[in-house]
Amino acid sequence: MSKVRTRYAPSPTGKMHVGNLRSALYEFLIAKHAGGDFMLRIEDTDQERFVEGATEIIYRTMDKAGLAHDEGPDKDGGFGPYVQSERMKTGIYMEHAKELVEKGEAYYCFCEKERLETLKTEIVEGKEIMMYDKRCLSLPKEEVEANLAAGKPFVIRQNIPKEGTTTFHDELYGDITVENAELDDMILIKSDGYPTYNFANVVDDHTMNITHVVRGNEYLSSAPKYQRLYDAFGWESPVYIHLPLITDENHKKLSKRSGHASFEDLLEQGFVTEAIVNFIALLGWSPEENREIFSLEELIQEFDYHRISKSPAVFDMVKLKWMNGEYLKAMEFGKFYAMAEPYLKAAVSKDYDLEKIAAMVKTRIEVFPDIAEHVDFFGQVPEYSISMYAHKKMKTTPESSLEVLRELLPRLEAQEDYSNDALYGLLLNYVKEKGCKNGYVMWPVRTAVSGKQMTPGGATELMEVLGKEESLARLRAAVAKLEQEL
Ligand code: GLU
Repeated sequence: MSKVRTRYAPSPTGKMHVGNLRSALYEFLIAKHAGGDFMLRIEDTDQERFVEGATEIIYRTMDKAGLAHDEGPDKDGGFGPYVQSERMKTGIYMEHAKELVEKGEAYYCFCEKERLETLKTEIVEGKEIMMYDKRCLSLPKEEVEANLAAGKPFVIRQNIPKEGTTTFHDELYGDITVENAELDDMILIKSDGYPTYNFANVVDDHTMNITHVVRGNEYLSSAPKYQRLYDAFGWESPVYIHLPLITDENHKKLSKRSGHASFEDLLEQGFVTEAIVNFIALLGWSPEENREIFSLEELIQEFDYHRISKSPAVFDMVKLKWMNGEYLKAMEFGKFYAMAEPYLKAAVSKDYDLEKIAAMVKTRIEVFPDIAEHVDFFGQVPEYSISMYAHKKMKTTPESSLEVLRELLPRLEAQEDYSNDALYGLLLNYVKEKGCKNGYVMWPVRTAVSGKQMTPGGATELMEVLGKEESLARLRAAVAKLEQEL
């Protein structure tokens, strides 16, 4: 068996979509699982679609996601160049196209635009496709040569017979057979001398010894034409894995508007890279055991591409959020804090110890933007109703709360040490004296200092962060509020 070699072959046309990242990830995992090589090849032959800066996005994304390539434009592995526009300059595509012309598997076409526009079109998968009528296939050899010598513009087309069928194999879809009559004589070399993506892809995958190709199933309809090229050259085709479409929760194509189209969009929404990668790995693939959290290393261990499913993969935002929360819980505190700090600063305007607040929210949030709703009261106590002091289980009422807060105030005024432990001790002493349950005291204090039913920490943890002055101000305000409203 030859060494497993996979490639991610993006066209630099913009942001890296979730679907692209999934192909890249699967290619990476297949190679690494088998101890093979993972290669990056830039497919930039479609100059019209080229977007400035898109190549940098590809590098940045791959790097961030941890998908290190063994070979690529910046890392020669003996199969270069790794950028198609540079490969073109070596003459590799033209040579191969000419080889096919010799074999009768391709032909020069000199038809002008005006003529092509008059040809019949067919609707294939919703797109209007022109079926070339093979007129130039019957040009006498001398005429072709004369045209070439005269510098007449030309393209080279694949010669697909009108009869018979073509069969190719896909790992997920099995054998697929199509009628040749449905396949158009696609262009291999364009009039500007560039190869089409379709042709360059085949020549490159073969000459770069690629063993497995993973791509979106939008390429499934072109696969028979690729198969015919492999056969015409007498090459063995790589293992094809065409991945099912990723849809949103409404079974629609992922869109920019719904915010989960690209890796960068997800990062902007505050998701952590490891969670995104883990989540994307499970978009169409499932491990043997029923488990969901995998580091990249663990994915490499577990990734068996035979377990990729062909049913459409649904991008479930709720699940991604949950997964992200799991990653945040497990994250080393320093790293968490560095990422949380901007969100904390935006949500807590006052000069509190943000690290302490971060430690409180770390296990409670799913994504960083959740921070705001958990910590907003540190800035200011929100408007609240005194009915919040009534808690059935804690057996508290607004009246009992007023009594507790009044009795506690002098003790808290006299208290110097506002650490969580010291304050907790103080409150427990009071609980003992009163002979009541903890919650009977903790609930009103926490409500008074936060104005919220749910807080990321207990009463005394919050007071430690707020400090003596602010805590007392809030407790006094609560007493005043209760007195006024009762
Ligand atoms: N350049 C193609 C793309 O970006 C690659 C498809 C393939 O992997 O063959 O979609």
